Amino acid sequence: MGEDAKNLCVLGSTGSIGRTVLRVVRQYPDKYNVVVLAAHSSGDVLLEQASEFRPKVCALTDQGAALKYCGGFNKLGIELLAEEDCLPVVVAFTEVDSVVCAMSGVAGLAPMESAVRAGKEILFANKEALVAGGNYVMRQVRGKAVRFMPIDSEHSAIYQCLLAGKRDEVSSITLTASGGPFLRSSREEMHAATKEQVMAHPTWEMGPEVTVNSATMMNKALEVIEARFLFDLPPDKIRVVIHPQSIVHGFVEFVDGSAIAQLSKPDMALAVQYALTAPERLPGVVEPLDLTALGRLEFMEPDMELFPVLSYAYEALEGGWWEPVALNAINETLVGAFLRGEISFGTLLKLVCDCFEKRSKAAGGSGFSTDEPERLDDILKAHSVFRDFALSALDGH
Ligand code: NDP
Ligand code: MG
Repeated sequence: MGEDAKNLCVLGSTGSIGRTVLRVVRQYPDKYNVVVLAAHSSGDVLLEQASEFRPKVCALTDQGAALKYCGGFNKLGIELLAEEDCLPVVVAFTEVDSVVCAMSGVAGLAPMESAVRAGKEILFANKEALVAGGNYVMRQVRGKAVRFMPIDSEHSAIYQCLLAGKRDEVSSITLTASGGPFLRSSREEMHAATKEQVMAHPTWEMGPEVTVNSATMMNKALEVIEARFLFDLPPDKIRVVIHPQSIVHGFVEFVDGSAIAQLSKPDMALAVQYALTAPERLPGVVEPLDLTALGRLEFMEPDMELFPVLSYAYEALEGGWWEPVALNAINETLVGAFLRGEISFGTLLKLVCDCFEKRSKAAGGSGFSTDEPERLDDILKAHSVFRDFALSALDGH
């Protein structure tokens, strides 16, 4: 462990991004110490990670899992926290320098907000938290002047490309999308897809929710919203282009007609590494690109008939602050039902559209205020209104 090393708290360490973070950290033992590791219920993986990285504290937010695994953590001499709401507390520990937000879902919002309030550096993959937290979180980020670094590959790319010019020289930013497994399918084929087909992403290996979101293109919709808040750009300057090879992750067009792009192999380790080391670069854990071996890179407009949810990002951003919250809550709830095998992929696609189209009706009389949120609870209340609305839509299926 390095004396001058940065102390990391990794939320969601057992997931796809969390494991990638630890893979990068393993390469630089003098630069990073892991002081907190947290997950929901994957006690066996967390225990293994704890025995390798020796954090001071671990957390499992699932009480049953914590009870099952506490003996193992005791043996290692590592404190295990188990309360569901312990994460906003652990991120603010004085030993923590940087918080890696690698949890999935809106559950990551309260810890993210707490880390910002505590003035910690934030490295975030958890786009759902920023989509829901929106300007409320970004105001605090700016107020506290914390370093707030994206891990999402497209946003990491845009962050890097923006360094090539001044803010008022930017004419647009473009996020690329692989198109997922249904890029070349008809609408009928897509709606009839099996879970196995949905989970077979052509270029990225990711956790279950983000894999489903990539198949519906909701992942890109959430990323447009993420980019709007993170880079403070109007929605009409944020574009999406399909790029099946996932080599160009994003590009920025400047007023002089130049486009600056970031290219690399589709491996999240590079975006994680850049979030940790920027603006410096270190010899990486990712293999360099061989463009001649790739031969050809394709780019095309997204098919809005096949992927109607992409337009919802722009609709949500045109509306009140609660509309991105609604889009995320509806999607998160319905994707959960799909992953548990309760609904088919076709039903997921249909219900996401039905529920989002009826968001204003659902908001009316539900008891949350549509005034700008002043507290985190205002956002969480809106989230639960649209979660319940989506759950009620599930009842008929
Ligand atoms: P995974 O499903 O693989 O991992 C999710 C992690 O979050 C797990 O460690 C899980 O713990 C933990 N977690 C979930 N809910 C809770 C909770 N309530 N309390 C504590 N821990 C919790 O997801 P990914 O790693 O794929 O994605 C993580 C985030 O990064 C998502 O927001 C995703 O959109 C984003 N992202 C992912 C990319 C990828 O390539 N995977 C790319 C860009 C962004 P447990 O294992 O115990 O369930
Ligand atoms: Mg992405």
